[in-house]
Amino acid sequence: MLTRFAPAPTGFLHLGHVVNALFVWGYAREAGGRVLLRIEDHDRQRSRPEFEHAILEDLAWLGFQADGPVVRQSDRAGVYHAALARLVAQGLVYGCSCTRAELQQVPPGPDGERRYPGTCRARCLGLVDGVGWRVQMAPGEERFDDRLLGARVQDPSAQCGDLLIRDRLCNWTYQFAVVADDCAQGITDVIRGVDLLPSTGRQIRLARLLGRATPPRFAHHPLVMKSATEKLSKSDGDTGVRDLRAAGWSAAEVLAHARALVP
Ligand code: GLU
Repeated sequence: MLTRFAPAPTGFLHLGHVVNALFVWGYAREAGGRVLLRIEDHDRQRSRPEFEHAILEDLAWLGFQADGPVVRQSDRAGVYHAALARLVAQGLVYGCSCTRAELQQVPPGPDGERRYPGTCRARCLGLVDGVGWRVQMAPGEERFDDRLLGARVQDPSAQCGDLLIRDRLCNWTYQFAVVADDCAQGITDVIRGVDLLPSTGRQIRLARLLGRATPPRFAHHPLVMKSATEKLSKSDGDTGVRDLRAAGWSAAEVLAHARALVP
């Protein structure tokens, strides 16, 4: 069993991360498995080395230790180009010049997500900088058995349409980078918050297009909520591990508090 903890260095470690880490390391220990630490800095405009440093330092303070060297997405262009080449060889990738404002015109679907309507699919734009790159998602259902939520069915072509894999600013997208990494690292178990549940079908599809016949197992755990309807976010001041440390909390107290916050 090989799983991963994969924070984005766009802010400090907060209680939501701590809950996720408890699940990740908890499942790994139970299975005699290993945990890899992956810094998901695919968004170069928002990622900061000082956040990465603080995240690693807070994790160590809490006692979460990775089983192997830390991997950073910004060091893995080769992995993403190799994955892209596989999709290109299947004739599935095209350039997309739609602007964010244009995409906002699409009315959101029942789950609130805007489906890309395929505007540029037949335009034959090249894969050049300054346009987005998309991979075609053919209609069809993806089924998976979530370890915590049970059987699920998702159709990525109906949810999101053709998936953006590189944006206009030349960033690899989360959806693409996470799948390329999970495949390349041989991750067998993905354990994360339920906010990422809608991404799972498209990630299984993308993994198959990249040659992975059997997808990882998924477990989506509850989120720490600020209230019944509001997600906890980095901007909620008193949730940062740094702040709790500064206020004199011990690591054991932070872990106990995080455990108690899981609904
Ligand atoms: N990097 C993602 C995040 O910080 C987590 C990715 C995942 O677990 O799939 O939300």
